[in-house]
Amino acid sequence: VCNVLCMDFKFMSHKQQLVILGATGSIGLSTLDVVAKNSDLFDVFALTAGQNAKKMAELCIKHSPLYAVMATQSAAEELSLHLKGTACQTLIMHSQQAMSDLCAHPDVDIVMSAIVGAAGLLPTLSAVEAGKKVLLANKESLVMSGQLFIDKVKKHKATLLPIDSEHNAIFQCLPHSLQNAQSDKNLQDNGVSKILLTGSGGPFLTRDIRTLKDVTVSEAVAHPNWSMGQKISVDSATMMNKGLEFIEAKWLFNCNSDDIDVVIHPQSIIHSMVQYHDGSILAQMGNPDMRTPIAHALAFPKRIDAGVKPLNFSDICDFSFTKPDFTRYPNLQLAIDACSAGQGATTTVNAANEIAVAAFLKGKIGFTDIYKINAQTLESAQYTNVQSLDEILQCDELARLSATQFINKVAH
Ligand code: NAD
Ligand code: MG
Repeated sequence: VCNVLCMDFKFMSHKQQLVILGATGSIGLSTLDVVAKNSDLFDVFALTAGQNAKKMAELCIKHSPLYAVMATQSAAEELSLHLKGTACQTLIMHSQQAMSDLCAHPDVDIVMSAIVGAAGLLPTLSAVEAGKKVLLANKESLVMSGQLFIDKVKKHKATLLPIDSEHNAIFQCLPHSLQNAQSDKNLQDNGVSKILLTGSGGPFLTRDIRTLKDVTVSEAVAHPNWSMGQKISVDSATMMNKGLEFIEAKWLFNCNSDDIDVVIHPQSIIHSMVQYHDGSILAQMGNPDMRTPIAHALAFPKRIDAGVKPLNFSDICDFSFTKPDFTRYPNLQLAIDACSAGQGATTTVNAANEIAVAAFLKGKIGFTDIYKINAQTLESAQYTNVQSLDEILQCDELARLSATQFINKVAH
């Protein structure tokens, strides 16, 4: 009798089935942490990752997903070896197509999109096309496909919730009627006069600009406030991250460049703000820990435990704000200009930056070369109409080729 009752109870209290794209990364691990704290609400349906089979094996043992998907066959084989002889029942698969298929699986409720870079686009779009609740950390997918992405969200009635801390903060501060990307309403007609997108300025906010060319990889990835993957850490140091976020905000909140101001706030206590016509400014605050926006989006509109300590205002010594200096952060200007120029430009700058940052991380180019590669690629790009998925992927591919050529010219 007890078994029957328990089964009935389990059936009645349907847990949300979750797929995590990029499970072995910084956002993926933070998501699993929040899920483990709320195991009465969420079940891990599938985990996916690129190459890190060892980490994936640990996660499979700990979280017992039904499926684990690696990017390549060799990584999947390595995962099988790690799990051999354990009690783990997880089915192992590989390929991007398998990730996309699982995102669209009828049993899945929520997809956390946390692959880094353009590799996240197709699985994320698959989740959108299946009308899932999509938690978007992978900003690059929205930057590279903008209108197409949002049109698909509307067409397939997907729920799109921002994980990027700034966008999650803006979402929380907006009136309910403006919160989602399905809304065609504009900010100005609905009481909002500005979105104030905050950024810490990264590790080089006060470093002598003349020495930026000598920045090492370990200096660039050492973010003062946030612990993140390597690519986004470098993007934060160049502030290309804020540029990508500027474009992300345009699409998520149906606004244009004039509606968004970037504000430097080195302490990362305020995660962004919304300014209203009546002079009110609403800010979302908290300790810089991605588990807060992850928990917010996972449970929205409910609130759940994220394991994050609340702010202690008596510990806060500095609370300051400045304007961004575009000579220090030329990548930020480049991305803002690309945002006004349109989809061809944003797809191009996103692809060029991904290639340039990878080259910097490999020691092939210097820190300030990242901007040069991005600017040269944009300048030489010959895109015309970039709207369909094929046009977007082609534009992305051409920008990667062109950026690689520019890198080969400066590479040491
Ligand atoms: P990360 O490098 O720590 O993790 C990336 C994940 O993607 C890993 O699981 C990796 O295995 C997987 N991956 C990489 N290449 C892949 C491929 N070709 N196919 C399939 N999977 C692949 O990165 P992160 O810091 O977790 O960031 C993930 C995304 O979230 C990025 O788009 C980033 O901009 C965004 N984001 C991160 C943070 C943060 O605090 N880390 C904050 C805001 C937004
Ligand atoms: Mg952010």
